[in-house]
Amino acid sequence: MEEIKLEFTKLVKRVDVDKTGDFIRYDESKCDGCGLCTKVCSFNLWSLKEGKARLAPRYQELCLECAACWEICPMEAIDFSYPAGGTGVVIEHG
Ligand code: SF4
Ligand code: SF4
Repeated sequence: MEEIKLEFTKLVKRVDVDKTGDFIRYDESKCDGCGLCTKVCSFNLWSLKEGKARLAPRYQELCLECAACWEICPMEAIDFSYPAGGTGVVIEHG
């Protein structure tokens, strides 16, 4: 099935994405390659390579901060916290 990439440019404003800090942390040693994070992310920011998850290097510029990847990971390999205060996504509509 063809992957659909969402941009949400009409819904969100991004503020100082270069100052968010690492608000998603990933411990590859805990990952069992189940692929759930790749399925749940609306922005396709997770991929699988050689049996391990990979997070897009510049995820701060695209992530919707939904925390679904953190919620669904059965191995607790993903840790999510909100970006540094005043930075990241602002939902403008919805
Ligand atoms: S959901 Fe967790 S265990 Fe599964 S591939 Fe993603 S990081 Fe790895
Ligand atoms: S927080 Fe949401 S949008 Fe961001 S990487 Fe995780 S699943 Fe994708």
